[in-house]
Amino acid sequence: MLDDVQEVLVSEQHIARRVQALGQQISADYRGREPVLIGILKGAVLFLSDLLRALTIHASVDFMAISSYGTGTQSSGVVRILKDLDHPIAGRDVLIVEDIVDTGLTIRYLLDNLRSRRPASLRVCVLLDKRERRQIPVELDYVGFEIPDRFVVGYGLDYAERYRNLPFIGVLRPEVIRDQGGR
Ligand code: 5GP
Repeated sequence: MLDDVQEVLVSEQHIARRVQALGQQISADYRGREPVLIGILKGAVLFLSDLLRALTIHASVDFMAISSYGTGTQSSGVVRILKDLDHPIAGRDVLIVEDIVDTGLTIRYLLDNLRSRRPASLRVCVLLDKRERRQIPVELDYVGFEIPDRFVVGYGLDYAERYRNLPFIGVLRPEVIRDQGGR
């Protein structure tokens, strides 16, 4: 599996340090409140579990699974909910925890959908921001790393359901994408 990686963009140590800092910042910002962290399956699972351990305040967790229609490495903005939240969020302080914002279409859909459920507050915490790819403006409250326009895998992010278990954020060799493209 490691042979398939061309380049490491964000190392395991960098991720760990940044997630700790985000946890401290979020704990300070939400002091005296009890936010619900909404993890977006499956990509945000590793980030959410590390971020949760970095919080020093009470917090609960819920999950949503969505599928965005699109081909391979390109999202279309048409989103379908595969698994909805277990609990209502009306009156709660909600923090969406997402792996990556690319065009912005998916997070825009999530924000609109969750806002209609009348939370007390609604913010976004995203590990990776591919800002130069943005098609619509979205405000991101907490960002781990800004990254260039490359297709990345690892630390929860997949290519054809593989590579989520890499402990770093990396770029695959082009021939790997070609060879596994039809999977
Ligand atoms: P957006 O709607 O912002 O264009 O795309 C967001 C979703 O596209 C992410 O939640 C993720 O599932 C997927 N995505 C965007 N860029 C990448 C990438 O570089 N690597 C992986 N694995 N998924 C990506």
